[in-house]
Amino acid sequence: MNEFIRKPRGTKDILPDEQKYWRAIEKAVEKRCLAFDFGKITTPSFESVQLFDRAIGQTTDIVQKEMFEVKRYGTSEEKREEETLVLRPEGTAGVVRVYLEKGMQVWPQPVKLYYIEPMFRYGRPQKGRYREFWQFGFEIIGDKSSQTDIATLMLIWQIFNDLGLNEKDIIIDINSIGCKICRPQINKSLSDYLIKYQKLLCPVCQERLNLNPLRILDCKEKKCQNIIAGAPQIIDYLCESCKSDFKQVLEGLDELAIPYDLNPRLVRGLDYYTKTTFEIRDLQDKTRQSSLGGGGRYDNLIETYGGPSTPAIGFAAGIERIISKIKEKKIKIPEIQKTEIFVIQLGEKAKKIALKLVYDLGNKGFASSCAMGKNSLKSQLRSADKNGAKLALIIGQREALDKSIIIKDLRDSTQESYSMNKLDEMIYKKLRQK
Ligand code: AMP
Repeated sequence: MNEFIRKPRGTKDILPDEQKYWRAIEKAVEKRCLAFDFGKITTPSFESVQLFDRAIGQTTDIVQKEMFEVKRYGTSEEKREEETLVLRPEGTAGVVRVYLEKGMQVWPQPVKLYYIEPMFRYGRPQKGRYREFWQFGFEIIGDKSSQTDIATLMLIWQIFNDLGLNEKDIIIDINSIGCKICRPQINKSLSDYLIKYQKLLCPVCQERLNLNPLRILDCKEKKCQNIIAGAPQIIDYLCESCKSDFKQVLEGLDELAIPYDLNPRLVRGLDYYTKTTFEIRDLQDKTRQSSLGGGGRYDNLIETYGGPSTPAIGFAAGIERIISKIKEKKIKIPEIQKTEIFVIQLGEKAKKIALKLVYDLGNKGFASSCAMGKNSLKSQLRSADKNGAKLALIIGQREALDKSIIIKDLRDSTQESYSMNKLDEMIYKKLRQK
């Protein structure tokens, strides 16, 4: 096969058999978000590079080396647009842009939005790490109370529970990383400690030491991990207000019996986070390097974009990772019901009637189909079974002539012949009435 017709590295194809997982996740997210009065939002796959530079931060891998730049084909004479565009690596920045651009500040606050979209990061592909991957996520913009943090965590917990992942499988890692007031003190205490080990840190962390020491806590390098183990705890440097808000969040989780693990080293990969930060991970994942989802407060982000000071909180989960967890735990996901009624034809005359019948049944709201290329009763019954049909309608040569039809109930294998004009009545009876 030619190279150019191969799938690009770090991407995947989602084949029909896999779709039930995607649908189950979409349904769970939709059900819980709509019940909580969230509105769905869809933003463009590409945005101006500045949007992410500002939000995610210059010291993150995403901005430094993982963004896909969008290049445009065209002749050199054509005027090129000045703006550099990149494929969206995450969802929050785009949603915040819309909030400001559409003047959502004047909507009733908080504004609650959710999305299900692909994201793009040019990282090194490995298990659970793609270059194109899907996230579902949500943002609550315009409310600073700890109750919103609790509601966010509750919503996440319910979605995961709906998918069959519960306290036996997953846990919330949680931390507070402070606000504008206490962050300088947190950074100072970390720098004072880390400067002593400067030469022993990995090159990336050496650079971060000046720019953003908090992010060093997030480093996965073994030699940095050993140093981080002795670093001061962020919680000891939180201001009174951050401390009390965080306490309320933890009490709220206790009250709802949502399990969490206080993780004083959790800082998350994106710079915009403040105060409560959290990740969902498998209980067995002690390395904490393969989270299922993560999020937190970003109370300063809107201001960074030139908007008014507006508190906000958000969360995003990786759909591919959730699916592999569902499979690993052997959680049963319902098959997608494709066909209710399968029409089987035997002979040329029956074939014509069958196609018209499928069309009519479809118009009456029944999911119906047939297998035109197949001629034997056995192979068509096999198709009916594979499609998960409840009823098979069989039209043989005799039925085609005397305008009758055999209804075979595939759930109990009973069958009976009816006059064609009784068909609707019988189908309604068998499929719609209890
Ligand atoms: P982040 O936007 O980095 O906070 O990530 C949120 C979630 O998205 C993670 O917990 C993962 O489940 C998922 N995720 C992030 N990066 C990738 C990737 N490269 N491939 C697959 N899933 C990812």
